[in-house]
Amino acid sequence: MNPMTIKTETAAITPEARLEKLRKAVDEGAHRTLSWRLAQLDGVLRFVSDHEDAMLAALKADLGRCATEARVADTLMVRSEVRLIRRNLRRWLQPRRVHTPIAAQPGKSWVQQEPFGLALILGTWNYPFQQILIPLAGALAAGNAAVVKLSEVAPHSASLMARYLEHYVDPTSVIVFTGGPETASRLLGCRFDKIFYTGSSRVGRIVMKAAAENLTPVTLELGGKNPAIVASDAPLEVTARRIVWGRFMNAGQICVAPDYVLVPEHMRLALIDSLRRAILRFYGPDPHRSESYGRIVNEQHFSRLLALMRDGRVAIGGNTDATDRYIAPTVLTDLPAGAAVLQEEIFGPILPVVGYQTIEEALAFIRARPKPLALYLFTKNRSLQRRSIRDISSGSVVINDVIVNQIVPGLPFGGVGNSGMGAFHGRYTFDAFSHSKAVVHRELWGDLDVRYPPFSNRKDRLLQWLLS
Ligand code: NAD
Repeated sequence: MNPMTIKTETAAITPEARLEKLRKAVDEGAHRTLSWRLAQLDGVLRFVSDHEDAMLAALKADLGRCATEARVADTLMVRSEVRLIRRNLRRWLQPRRVHTPIAAQPGKSWVQQEPFGLALILGTWNYPFQQILIPLAGALAAGNAAVVKLSEVAPHSASLMARYLEHYVDPTSVIVFTGGPETASRLLGCRFDKIFYTGSSRVGRIVMKAAAENLTPVTLELGGKNPAIVASDAPLEVTARRIVWGRFMNAGQICVAPDYVLVPEHMRLALIDSLRRAILRFYGPDPHRSESYGRIVNEQHFSRLLALMRDGRVAIGGNTDATDRYIAPTVLTDLPAGAAVLQEEIFGPILPVVGYQTIEEALAFIRARPKPLALYLFTKNRSLQRRSIRDISSGSVVINDVIVNQIVPGLPFGGVGNSGMGAFHGRYTFDAFSHSKAVVHRELWGDLDVRYPPFSNRKDRLLQWLLS
């Protein structure tokens, strides 16, 4: 079967033909009222309520994810984000008045949010529901039509959404595609008014190149290496507990997981002991049997991670089982400077621990690498906190914890440089799919002659006064 044909009743229609209908409606100026937008958001919420058990089962099948983590990160997160948009949408759609200078008086000026038109949302597999449903809610709330391409790497989650999602939203405004890179490429060959991509920095470049053809604005939610700096005053038990929680949740397949740890060399072994205690406490003596521990998404990623594990000395874990793609929570240390595990994003349950002599050396180590999606710093030292926030560019910073920036509704979530561009979550999701249109409404009376030629010294002086 053509990978781009999903629903049996539409199987005979090419994707381009399906897209054409949405494009036509958008170009003809289909007006999306507040009640239409709210109905779409309600549809997304109903999809989650009606299929919650199936979503949890799909996440278990795709990623071995336990129900609690699946609920927190997928169903609850989607609900709270969509509800936040729903609560605020009327206000966000209100024109925002701005000051009109004398030179443009009599008149009034405002900023008005306008939908881009037709949005393409390309998702990845590690949080397959959250990464599709939140941007989709933002796109529809902002008044766009949307084409969604699910990740082929989480097939159970993709098949659930492909089968049902269109029934919960306006089917004349939303199309859901499955399929792999070939499908994504084909879609990227079509004209969109906004592209929202979540995935690797490598594919992010492909997406941006394709978007450039039509000067389509992009939001790129990418990955990278998130450093966790442990300073010499950090209390090791709580630090280790939080790092272990963030690194080994979803078997490390989280874009904001702490990717590696920098710790003063004289504390390195003590930190590793604390990490061991935290792993034991969370996952027991045999994490393979823990109900709370996930699996690697597929064989390709499993082999990639096995290769990365050979880079250093295994201090904790290291056990694997190919039959169910299990990799134990693993801590590596004694790593050679050029180790691949310190260059590539790990995206799995491996945590390299690297010792440093001075904090300057640690900060320079991070600055020498592409800008991270998140920076984590464990210290009570206020001046070091301020310095790290100021001197290291990253999508976000969390002091004394990891990942929790994701659940603060007022904060944008997104990267910078190699870790992405643009942001979402809360108001930012709506903004990502909206154009801020500037509007000036002048009266037809009160025309100032000073702006019109022929000019004179008097007009020149007056204009300078009016515009200064
Ligand atoms: P993936 O393989 O699912 O790819 C993502 C999307 O890109 C899919 O829809 C896929 O079909 C498409 N794609 C793949 N190859 C393509 C190609 N050659 N041309 C066009 N489209 C293509 O996921 P992935 O890229 O392995 O995702 C993991 C990455 O995503 C990690 O780097 C992770 O850090 C990042 N990530 C970022 C965020 C964030 O919010 N910043 C969230 C989750 C994951």
